[in-house]
Amino acid sequence: LMYSGGENSAPFLDIAEPAPRGHVPELAGKKIGERSGGYMLMKPLADTVAELGIDVEYDTRIRRLVVDDEDRVVGVLATTYGKPVTVRAARGVVLATGSFAYDTEMIDRYTPRLSGRPGAAIEEHDGIGIRLAQALGAELAHMDASEVAIFGDPQMMARGILVNGRGQRYVTEDTYPGRIGQATLLQNDNQAFLIIDETSLEEALATESATPFFRFQPKWVAETVAELEAEMGLPAQTLQTTVATYNQHAEHGTDPLLGKKPEWVRPIKGALACFDLRGFTAGFTLGGLRTDLDSRVLHVSGEPIEGLFAAGRCTSGLCAYGYVSGASLGDGSFYGRRAGKAAAAG
Ligand SMILES: Cc1cc2nc3c(=O)[nH]c(=O)nc-3n(C[C@H](O)[C@H](O)[C@H](O)COP(=O)(O)OP(=O)(O)OC[C@H]3O[C@@H](n4cnc5c(N)ncnc54)[C@H](O)[C@@H]3O)c2cc1C
Repeated sequence: LMYSGGENSAPFLDIAEPAPRGHVPELAGKKIGERSGGYMLMKPLADTVAELGIDVEYDTRIRRLVVDDEDRVVGVLATTYGKPVTVRAARGVVLATGSFAYDTEMIDRYTPRLSGRPGAAIEEHDGIGIRLAQALGAELAHMDASEVAIFGDPQMMARGILVNGRGQRYVTEDTYPGRIGQATLLQNDNQAFLIIDETSLEEALATESATPFFRFQPKWVAETVAELEAEMGLPAQTLQTTVATYNQHAEHGTDPLLGKKPEWVRPIKGALACFDLRGFTAGFTLGGLRTDLDSRVLHVSGEPIEGLFAAGRCTSGLCAYGYVSGASLGDGSFYGRRAGKAAAAG
């Protein structure tokens, strides 16, 4: 387990005893990005489906929900290999169609900060499940919430300082990168510059756990902060004030402004590099259908829509604005199981 959500950084480490909760999967033949956590999660699920002899229909896209005279959901209209099909649902329909990260119209309307940015999701996340349920009067929640990844090396960010377009620090650099991404895109106009001195940069690159990803050249290098400030086109004294304030406290190993942990705090000295992280964010949406504890989709009246359940990113999940890695899989697995049980009992 690892600290994957900023649990051991400010302000959380003073609120609760930090507990590592992110999974670092161990499996034979592990290959990051190809055969890792996702594989380890899906393989047993797929094997169990096969062992139980459950019917699976591939390449079947849902188009409409079907209701009876009492407005109970009793089936779906879909397309299988291009041909229309109808499916009768004896006990209920569980929507698990993902987010709306790839529906431009919905992104523009609900999460405009993500407009024009790459979606950290698969292209099938087109919001269809949300739209279909809306057509039956479903309630939505937290439609403006989004996860935001930032493509920066945590080892480098923790050792440097991140400043916005005004040359000011705005987030604890040793926290969960998703938190840095949200602070960058949602609160600082997607302006992020990582400033790090030569000594710290060399140390970050030599770290055993250094990532092979996020390796690129700095946009500017300079011998002094004043020189870097001018190169970046910042008003005189803005960046110099930021670094002077940071260094004043860093001499004593503290960061009273934002609370970076002492192990990462050191004065910025000597030759400097500045990595331009503007536009280095991507996200997926976190809002969706309002559901209850049994994953029943709620109508705007507050009552459940009979026969309709939903789980995963097409619902408004547990995390909303305070997204942490793992919360997505939790929303899918926990509420998927609740939905299955509730539907089976229907
Ligand atoms: C690079 C990356 C890293 C991530 N890392 C983590 C992590 O470490 N921890 C974590 O918790 N989350 C992580 N996530 C997020 C997480 O993987 C997703 O949010 C989660 O898988 C969504 O689950 P879901 O069941 O809602 O949707 P999905 O697993 O995407 O399933 C939705 C399914 O619905 C299908 N579908 C869509 N439309 C239709 C239709 N009309 N008819 C029929 N089927 C349809 C799609 O084809 C898809 O198979 C990561 C995501 C990315 C992109």
